[in-house]
Amino acid sequence: MLYGGDERYRLKQEIVLGIGGVRMLEALDFKIAKYHMNEGHSSLLTLELLRKNNINADEVKDLCIFTTHTPVEAAFDKFPYDLVNELLGERFPIDVLKEYGGRDRLNMTLLALNLSKYTNGVTKTHMEYSRKLFPGHLIMSVTNGVHSYTWTCQYFRELFDKYIPGWANEPELLVRVGPIPDKEIWEAHLKAKRDLLEFIKKRTGVELDINTLTLGFARRATAYKRATLIFSDLERLRELNRRGRLQLVFAGKAHPRDTGGKLMIKEIHNYMAQLKDEVKIVYLENYNMEMAARLTSGVDVWLNTPLPPLEASGTSGMKAAHNGVINFSVLDGWWIEGCVEGVTGWAIGPPPDEPLEEHERRRRELRDLYNKLEYLIIPTFYERRDRWINMMSNSIGKVAYYFNSHRMMRRYVTEAYLL
Ligand SMILES: *Cc1c(COP(=O)(O)O)cnc(C)c1O
Repeated sequence: MLYGGDERYRLKQEIVLGIGGVRMLEALDFKIAKYHMNEGHSSLLTLELLRKNNINADEVKDLCIFTTHTPVEAAFDKFPYDLVNELLGERFPIDVLKEYGGRDRLNMTLLALNLSKYTNGVTKTHMEYSRKLFPGHLIMSVTNGVHSYTWTCQYFRELFDKYIPGWANEPELLVRVGPIPDKEIWEAHLKAKRDLLEFIKKRTGVELDINTLTLGFARRATAYKRATLIFSDLERLRELNRRGRLQLVFAGKAHPRDTGGKLMIKEIHNYMAQLKDEVKIVYLENYNMEMAARLTSGVDVWLNTPLPPLEASGTSGMKAAHNGVINFSVLDGWWIEGCVEGVTGWAIGPPPDEPLEEHERRRRELRDLYNKLEYLIIPTFYERRDRWINMMSNSIGKVAYYFNSHRMMRRYVTEAYLL
């Protein structure tokens, strides 16, 4: 259970994971060359390694790699030292712990940062932001990727097997998407879309239309993801829908203690009621990986509207690209590296390095969201199907070929593990 229980329970979990984890691997006779900490949750493992290495920090650093996955402060576990003392007892010198884990409270992220030889963020922009967040630490980046075979639907797997054999073990081969005929790309997409619409019908009773431009938005329901952004101007949304029909599919669960996230789901249902009989909108409950696979292959456009710079990477858009689904997203996280405007998809709002006031950014995001739907996305989908399929093909050949875990793992091996 990643997010559960109280602070005391949480620290106990992290003691089991970090200290217990090292001991368990040892008991099983594994010879560990490198420990890779993803977030600070497991960083108590550094204490166990310090203990085994006579408190020699340099030796521990040689064994440790740390990847930070979020710029959201609230995600960094911090524990009061009296609680740490009580649970860890006298087994570990608290002054050493304070040297690496912070003076006032035990900061698990800081502990990992201070005792790892290699630290990275999960995209270039997240690296830059993390360098500001943790001054004095050398932070590199390895941009995330998704597992290509897992996140490619059956119909595109078959298509890739036919035209790009070997793609699953060497996803960079997807760059050779060119020879696949447009017709076959479109047919594979329609099959995935039909599957999704059947699934939605079964789950909600709502019948969506296969020929209507379908936008998908599915992620953890939490405030910075701004799932309600597209409802900022209902009149404009109605007007768009009159020009060229639109339908929207939402999914996402909120953390039980995330009031903002729960409120956002409520608001979406509220907007759905207001737009009833005008714009078809469904909200799917119990978002999980199986549903994510259906959604990221079955919609036409994958929408993402996080509040920059809070999306460290984002991965669902990479899943979408593997299925020829086109991304329409705020320039944050991975999309800064993946977006070639009008070629691989479309950007919402200005790039992060453009010096603008926050309110001007917010204004330009909304402007792009509605204008690009009206003048680019809807007309291309309905009137220039050839150009649309060309962009689907670019999603595969210029996005999926790179944003996959094969490339990511090669980089971890050469830049972090073999360091
Ligand atoms: C891929 C996935 C996510 C992460 O998506 P993001 O775009 O990174 O927010 C979250 N939940 C499920 C079930 C997923 O499959």
